[in-house]
Amino acid sequence: MNKIVPIPAFADNYIWAIHSLNDSQVAVVDPGDAEPVLQYLQKSQLSLNAILITHRHWDHTNGITQLLEHFPNVPVYGPNRSVYQITNIIEDGMFVTLEAQELKLSVMAIPGHTLDHIAYAGEGILFCGDTLFSAGCGRIFEGTPQQMYDSLNKLASLDDDTLIYCGHEYTLNNLAFALSLEPDNKLLRTKALEIAALRVANKASLPSRLRDEKTFNPFLKCHLLEFQNQITLLTGKELSSPVDFFTEVRSMKDHFKA
Ligand SMILES: [Zn+2]
Repeated sequence: MNKIVPIPAFADNYIWAIHSLNDSQVAVVDPGDAEPVLQYLQKSQLSLNAILITHRHWDHTNGITQLLEHFPNVPVYGPNRSVYQITNIIEDGMFVTLEAQELKLSVMAIPGHTLDHIAYAGEGILFCGDTLFSAGCGRIFEGTPQQMYDSLNKLASLDDDTLIYCGHEYTLNNLAFALSLEPDNKLLRTKALEIAALRVANKASLPSRLRDEKTFNPFLKCHLLEFQNQITLLTGKELSSPVDFFTEVRSMKDHFKA
């Protein structure tokens, strides 16, 4: 199993470093800033062997140019109509092979947060950028709620043991929102305490396991009758399909203040 380390960037971004099996090289996912990556590489005497991009937002891509100045021949994988530095345009159904990591990742199109958004999945790990967060999901900037809902379902169809490496440390705020929907949910309260302790110790709340997300992530529960009843009770709205519930919950999160 590859060592995968979060490199914190900006206020709450994570740039994921996927180590090679001999621990001499790393591939990075979504380098929004080059400096923390270069420091990480220097400190551990590592070189860079690939850059993977999930979507074109600046906080996931702004470090590419500077990294390429230090490592000019490194391939940059990413979606079409995205970022000019991308050297290997990839799309749904294709594979990215990281030789030194001995890792073959499949590419999944997951539009919603942006239309170009992709995820990388394989060997029980998932890099999903700003689509699925622990206890939450990304804002819908470009796609429709239906698109986002379908994309989340696509990710949820992966093996339940899959470890989720997403782009931001939003877990605690997401859990606060989830608790505002289900104040009596003991599982959520326990989870929030657990994550709060991790954060106080300055540790990442990620990766998260898909099986667990299905129990506490409100955006993965919109098809469950019990959850739907709770949302109906809370909003007084007559919603019918899972995507209607998803749309309502996403809109509530957009206006939520912890
Ligand atoms: Zn984004």
